[in-house]
Amino acid sequence: MENRIWMQSWQPANHWISINNDNVLCNLCPRFCKIKPEKVGFCGVRKNVNGALASVNYGKSVPITCESIETEAVFHYAPGEPILSLGNIGCMMKCDFCQNWATSQSRLVQDHNVSYISPESVVQYALDNNIRMLSWTYNDPVVWQEFVVDTARLAKQHGIQNLYKSAFYITPQAIDELLEVMDIFSVSIKSLDDDFYRRVTKGRLEPVLEGVKQVYGAIKQGANVHLELSNLCVTGRNDNLQESLKTAHWMLENLDANVPLHYVRFHPDYLYTQVERTDPAFLEEARTAAINAGLNYVYVGNVHGTPSSNTYCPCCQTLVVERYGLAATSFLKQGACPRCQHPIPIKMPWAEPSLLHSPQELPDGLPHMLHSFRGVIRSCHVEQLAANPLYFQFETQDGAPVGRVQKMISLRFMLSSPSPQASQVRLFYTGVKPHVYEVYDRAHFPVWEAERTACHSEDVPPVLDDQKVK
Ligand code: SF4
Repeated sequence: MENRIWMQSWQPANHWISINNDNVLCNLCPRFCKIKPEKVGFCGVRKNVNGALASVNYGKSVPITCESIETEAVFHYAPGEPILSLGNIGCMMKCDFCQNWATSQSRLVQDHNVSYISPESVVQYALDNNIRMLSWTYNDPVVWQEFVVDTARLAKQHGIQNLYKSAFYITPQAIDELLEVMDIFSVSIKSLDDDFYRRVTKGRLEPVLEGVKQVYGAIKQGANVHLELSNLCVTGRNDNLQESLKTAHWMLENLDANVPLHYVRFHPDYLYTQVERTDPAFLEEARTAAINAGLNYVYVGNVHGTPSSNTYCPCCQTLVVERYGLAATSFLKQGACPRCQHPIPIKMPWAEPSLLHSPQELPDGLPHMLHSFRGVIRSCHVEQLAANPLYFQFETQDGAPVGRVQKMISLRFMLSSPSPQASQVRLFYTGVKPHVYEVYDRAHFPVWEAERTACHSEDVPPVLDDQKVK
């Protein structure tokens, strides 16, 4: 008997057929697991219960977190828009470098890291917090398809949009179901080498590429859906120009030059920790080579403060969207370059900016705590026990304010240094003192305070007593 509570309840699953002797075949992802009675599939979250497939992770998530759309390698849709990120348990792949292994590997997930949610509670939470977009992300949304589709459909009915961030190892009929409810697909391609997929991810390349083509084909046929791709460059595995350029060439042959591509920095994690983080110089080189090959919008991801995360007009090189960390400022004029009027394919679905980031007056007398960003670790998650108002103010190292005071009410949210001067953030809380978790980069979802990841030669300063992450 499974002794973790989160595994003991389930909901009926879709995307399966019966085969002989009460066995079932799951056809949600191209692994097509044949599952015997009382057993689970490869992902660990789809179980044969009395000859029918059940979803063991329906409505079971890691803490839902307020972030910004840039976290999901989406740069050409509502820059700076706040999103509500939802991750779950399990994964249909098994990358040895997984940046979210504590939740993606279901056998490792502990009860205290699981939140119980319903489609209604997620939508209400987004409405209460003025959030206009849900993001299905982290471990991988493929393995909770039923919950994703139920919630996304309800969200849509309330005017809330949906973003799907995935490695996209998924079958065509499941993609068709997603195309009915998703507004954005951000697909993480691990490599253009099938052998890499088989060895390192335990998946296959071809279904991923076919899935991307399916989404792109739907867009060409009029679906109101946005697509971006990213390519994680893993040290010692695919951090060479020959490999990175394959992604650019494939996009030029199968998609078009305006689909954005992100070359994303890796941090050592899970079973692959004996290497350094990806060299930022390589990511810059890969970006330049992909632009020279013909792509118009190529970005470097997970490197704080690089100009290569800005958007430039491909005609006259004018800066049209400036980004630092997760902050974005648009200089577009009616969707075009302000200098040469070349149209820039960045969708702006809302006329008004989000209410969430409006400046606030700081009430007097609130207790406060300080979190200092350490070296290259420039982001953090702030978690509260209850959804109380929490005010924050970025500061220089000397305590001078940077920007205005802002307010969040979410249970958990991400803060990222918005400028080179902002080296710390002061949190003014109205409830119990919050917890702060360091976030290594945007793909990373820490689940315990003491989690530390190898930064090796990056010389991250030690945590001093007055900087302790707690
Ligand atoms: S979703 Fe899970 S159970 Fe279904 S085929 Fe993929 S790995 Fe197997």
